[in-house]
Amino acid sequence: MQAETNSPRQLLPWQHGALNLLQLLGLHGALLAWLWAGRGLVPWAAFLPLSVFACLLHQRQLSEWYHEATHWNLFPGHRWNDLCANLLIAPLNGVPVSGNRPGHFRHHAVSAFFGPDDPDTRAAAARTRQELRAGLLRDVAGITAWRAFRDASQAGTSPARRAGWFVLLAALHAGGLLACLSAGRVDIYPLYFGTLLTLYPIANRLRLYAQHAQFDAAGAPLLAGSSASRSFHSGLLERLILHSQVIVYHHEHHAAPSLPFRELRARSRASADPNVHGTSGFACVAQVLRGLPP
Ligand SMILES: [Zn+2]
Ligand SMILES: [Zn+2]
Repeated sequence: MQAETNSPRQLLPWQHGALNLLQLLGLHGALLAWLWAGRGLVPWAAFLPLSVFACLLHQRQLSEWYHEATHWNLFPGHRWNDLCANLLIAPLNGVPVSGNRPGHFRHHAVSAFFGPDDPDTRAAAARTRQELRAGLLRDVAGITAWRAFRDASQAGTSPARRAGWFVLLAALHAGGLLACLSAGRVDIYPLYFGTLLTLYPIANRLRLYAQHAQFDAAGAPLLAGSSASRSFHSGLLERLILHSQVIVYHHEHHAAPSLPFRELRARSRASADPNVHGTSGFACVAQVLRGLPP
């Protein structure tokens, strides 16, 4: 295992915020550029799967910026943080960042993951491969996404503010749909939101297994009742697909949830304990999938 070599680099809060916003805008710009120009670059049969993959990558990364905003670490100042998150992230998942806080802070408060008390991980719980298959069916049918939206959209704000949010959301998406229709790109909405409703929950489930599954000395996985929070020093592919740099230092994040991700990276050290540090998130996911009894 190679020790982390990042030296602690202290950034001022506004520097964190400026870097975060630049990366977030770059993420949106990259997806828009592909969806806009890619259609003319490759045939439809290639554009469709490539675009689904691009949307999924965007959603994984965006979810982790949303998590950073949930802890008020996207931009300095609580009001500015929430304004940035609600303008640049929340219109795409439909829930203002305040709605994510009660459930996510509960995730930080529980002593055991994948149990009924943990709103973030309970939908991914599985004791057997049969339960896992049922969970994957719920994911791909859109049920997991609908339940997450339903629960979070009822939380964290007053009924009046919630009503105002839905008016803003409807106006934003009416404008977005109109822009796509007038540009002759009716495919963009179903591509993005179809992927969000069906494939993103599977990607998130696998990320949760990498970070929160507990392994015993023989390597057998435990989901419901796990107390593990695992960090990785992953390579580029894992950071694109499974868990980005914003959330990959998950052991340190659970120890100090208020710290921005760059400070977690500076604190993170390799550990011989497989429930603290993993060498590969893909390998952890495979260990869970292989290790569940039939
Ligand atoms: Zn966690
Ligand atoms: Zn958190």
